[in-house]
Amino acid sequence: MESKTTPKTIGIPRAISYFSNYPFYYGYFKGLGIEIVLSDKTTNATINNGCKHVVSDTCLPIKVFIGHVINLLDKGCETIFVPSLQSSAYKVNNCSKIRGLPEIVRNVINRKITIIDPEINKTEGISFKDFCLDIARRFDIYDSETINSAIKKGWETYNNFHKMTVAGLSYKEALQNALDGNLVTKPIEIVKPLSVVIMAHGYNLFDERISMGLIKKLEKMGVKAYTSLNITTEQAYDSIKEIGEIQYWANELELTGTAAYYMLNNRVDGIIALSAFGCGPDSLMVEEVQYHAKERGMSMIHLNIDEHTGEAGFVTRLEAFVDMMMRKKRKQIMSSDVINLMHTAVAISKKTNTKAEKSKEEVIKI
Ligand code: SF4
Repeated sequence: MESKTTPKTIGIPRAISYFSNYPFYYGYFKGLGIEIVLSDKTTNATINNGCKHVVSDTCLPIKVFIGHVINLLDKGCETIFVPSLQSSAYKVNNCSKIRGLPEIVRNVINRKITIIDPEINKTEGISFKDFCLDIARRFDIYDSETINSAIKKGWETYNNFHKMTVAGLSYKEALQNALDGNLVTKPIEIVKPLSVVIMAHGYNLFDERISMGLIKKLEKMGVKAYTSLNITTEQAYDSIKEIGEIQYWANELELTGTAAYYMLNNRVDGIIALSAFGCGPDSLMVEEVQYHAKERGMSMIHLNIDEHTGEAGFVTRLEAFVDMMMRKKRKQIMSSDVINLMHTAVAISKKTNTKAEKSKEEVIKI
């Protein structure tokens, strides 16, 4: 049941929009003078708790979100932020589960809870500013100077975070620096024998329990992983257009756009799609990218995850994919070496023939 008190603190579940928007939420709530309580990082218990509350065919990220809500309630935090994220741009929509998330929480949690669910729906004309004003109103804050300065603080933290990930800092490093108010722009270029782009929602990829530490695993295998955070929104957007697709889903920039950018620029040896079992939008986006990857001869693997996914099988598939990319690259290098050798041989023989012709001419002249 929902309580009706004006809260002084807000609980933020470490799931779904946390992974894309937390730098903004942090700056904004701090700017409003509201204390944030974060749920703990995802564990098996978080997943199990989430699974107990929703029907089994709900996708893993939503089960995990519910598990985080329970974690916050267990910590004694009853005011919980569950934004109603409908559409991020005109006719660019979130999936029905994200759109209905506040209602799902209301219906499955049978404990004392206050849900803060501001809406953003650009298709219906509900702007980001409206979203921010709604949050402030729930805390009885109406002073426009305070609200505007908090919005500014939110954007500053968010923009710094993105500048750092585009410059090459990891998700974790960039997040910590942005929250600490630092902006580290020194690019860190790690050279590895192979590189891949991972097309995945931030809430699947950067939650280390859900992704089973995919980025770290790849690094250990000598593979540099690029993600949606390493490119700008414009680059992702332009890349979707360039491969001839249109953006319908709100998360399409971090999936189709990111894969398309690296594929078009020929910057990686392969594509890894990481998605949750039963996700409708992802199945369409992965299919689109698979089609374009095949056309360009780019290696691609689709890793599907749910709460039953075992780490051993996951690693085996990953190792086989990395092995295949390595063999392909070796073959390419060898064939380009052979071509180079052939070019050199032809050049040398041409030079030798010209010299021989010249000396023949000289002999004749004498
Ligand atoms: S986009 Fe897919 S994975 Fe994400 S919440 Fe919706 S159905 Fe689940």
